[in-house]
Amino acid sequence: MEQHRYTLEKGSKKDFCPACNKKRFVHYVDTETGEYLPNQYGRCDRESKCGYHLNPYKNGYSQMIKEQEQGTFNGNWKPDQYARVVTIKKPLKSKPAFIPVEVLKQTLEPDRYEQNVFIQNLFNNVPYPFEVSDVTKAVELYKIGTIKAGYRKGAVTFPFIDLKGNIRAVQVKQFNKSNHTTGTDFLHSIIDKHHSKRNEPLPNWLQAYNKNELKVSCLFGEHLLSKYPLNPVALVEAPKTAFYGTLYFGFPEQPEDLIWLAVYNKSSFKFDKLKVLKGRTVLTFPDLSKDGQTFKEWKQKATGIESRLPGTRFIFSDLLEQLAPEADKKEGNDIADYLIKQDWQNFRKRKPKQKPPEPVPEIKEPVTEVRKIRQPKKETEDFEFSETIKKEPEDWQTDISELERYFEKMRLPPEPVRLNQCTVITNVSQFLKSHLQTVKSHNGNNRFLPYLNRLQQLRTTLN
Ligand SMILES: [Zn+2]
Repeated sequence: MEQHRYTLEKGSKKDFCPACNKKRFVHYVDTETGEYLPNQYGRCDRESKCGYHLNPYKNGYSQMIKEQEQGTFNGNWKPDQYARVVTIKKPLKSKPAFIPVEVLKQTLEPDRYEQNVFIQNLFNNVPYPFEVSDVTKAVELYKIGTIKAGYRKGAVTFPFIDLKGNIRAVQVKQFNKSNHTTGTDFLHSIIDKHHSKRNEPLPNWLQAYNKNELKVSCLFGEHLLSKYPLNPVALVEAPKTAFYGTLYFGFPEQPEDLIWLAVYNKSSFKFDKLKVLKGRTVLTFPDLSKDGQTFKEWKQKATGIESRLPGTRFIFSDLLEQLAPEADKKEGNDIADYLIKQDWQNFRKRKPKQKPPEPVPEIKEPVTEVRKIRQPKKETEDFEFSETIKKEPEDWQTDISELERYFEKMRLPPEPVRLNQCTVITNVSQFLKSHLQTVKSHNGNNRFLPYLNRLQQLRTTLN
């Protein structure tokens, strides 16, 4: 009977919890008097997150009242310190385990890039091939690597490295010649399978890593936030898109230049992941989706996140949503699919014309050997890369001169010209100017062969 005198208040009335301050606290009531027990007696109903529970039977309170009522109380009651609050211990947030730097470094071995389908496509299979130096720079920036052997041979690796340089996940993507996904995987799963097939024990780091509840627990490119503390951010879904964004819009060189980051997938646009963007301006580009669902969802979430992260501003442009045909939306196309059809040179900031070279000072001592001094490596930063394959140099001078002579003589049509099924030149004279300039400054560089080919195609078409 005695045990039923003090009970938790019935009903749904909640007060502020003395431990967590949330309005989820239920008081104990003395059923004989109908009054509340002192404020601290009660239970927080956030059982797993707070767990505060002070029970009057557990700290001697009920005994003390009984003695008072029986007249035997000596006035010296002290709540039993050890039984004061029965809290369910918060499950200790187990520290996440990371992927060792050595494991990432293997994916970054320079001679692997020749096998990397994604990277090689950027030189050979896109309409407007990129320069080796730009791709190398972007690869270094994001620490993108290659799977060398096995069933994912030739796949590209996209590491998710956090603010502190911890490697939280390495996504593995297989692409076809048009850089569309044909397979998705994770480096830790590949390594896991490799050992399991051979009945070998997993390495210690992987045993720990497999216990992580969430694998992709930071943004792709997050490590750049500490390197570029002031820059605005462009946020997309997939790492590939962030990589394209950098190649098209340029590298973060000035404080106003964009850093391109990716959340991983459409459901990872969440506070926990985005709180690292505190104080930044964030241009946000969700992938297209049926009826613009993702766009609406992210936009709504962003409003909530902004209110929790003072100084942060998410900017959404619905340009893509408005322009994209319904078929693209159904396919979930993204900004990468649009960019790759454009000439990246038109997107880069106009750089001031290069100054004429300074006169070279006269060298008195004969130079016998020029060596590149190697910079000492920092711990996780700055892996070394070498340029990817170089092809035999060719010379297009004859072709270029012929083209120049041909176009000089002719009157250019003011109207758009259709070059082939998918290319329409809207401004012929501008097209000529930029294409001729490109082939001249990259004479013989096979990656720019499509430019030469387009010029020749134009000549055939106009003929
Ligand atoms: Zn509480």
